[in-house]
Amino acid sequence: MTAKNSADSALVLFSGGQDSTTCLAWALARFAWVETVGFDYGQRHAVELEARVRILAAVHSRFPQWSDRLGEDQLLALDVLKQIGGSALTDATKIEMGRDGLPTSFVPGRNVLFLTAAAALGYRRGIADLVGGMCETDFSGYPDCREKTITATAEALTLALDRRVTVHTPLMYIDKGQTWALAEELGGRALVDLIIEETVTCYEGDRVHRHDWGYGCGVCPACDLRAKGYARYTGA
Ligand code: ZN
Repeated sequence: MTAKNSADSALVLFSGGQDSTTCLAWALARFAWVETVGFDYGQRHAVELEARVRILAAVHSRFPQWSDRLGEDQLLALDVLKQIGGSALTDATKIEMGRDGLPTSFVPGRNVLFLTAAAALGYRRGIADLVGGMCETDFSGYPDCREKTITATAEALTLALDRRVTVHTPLMYIDKGQTWALAEELGGRALVDLIIEETVTCYEGDRVHRHDWGYGCGVCPACDLRAKGYARYTGA
């Protein structure tokens, strides 16, 4: 099945994490037809990619209001990022502050590459609206999460494809506590529970240690942000 009406369709960049799952719900609440795309870029932890499949199945089974709108999922290989290497997300490197002033978890070019691949897929599928979880509120300083970068990339893609490309970033100016609240607003407690049980945010890919905010090592920067956000959301 392809997009029914391109003006009312969206393609969500869906990694299986908390942010992109919230973006998926945001898109399902707004667009009549929603497709998803994920990227296998040689990330160290395949658990993220497994989480994607479980979350999409759960949307179909637990959210009847969205099930009919959720269309095809694609997983694209972008292993060029792994070949380039040098990031703690693709190599066995410790997450710490790098000499460039950014955490070693920074993957140079990742979001621009992801948006380019998503826009190209959208071109083929007749979808001009992309949705991504980029956020500059608690973005660890990643320059490719800034709104300015995303807007400029959308402009470049619109020129490159000679067709409108819009990138929606519903999380751009909210923090992790507000992201939990947005999930509840969109999908009620059922969506919050799904995010807790199934999404993977942890840089170590930990699915062993269960906290009130979900699974994770509890100490990496991603777990730290997620835990603090959950505490703010619940008022703990
Ligand atoms: Zn962690």
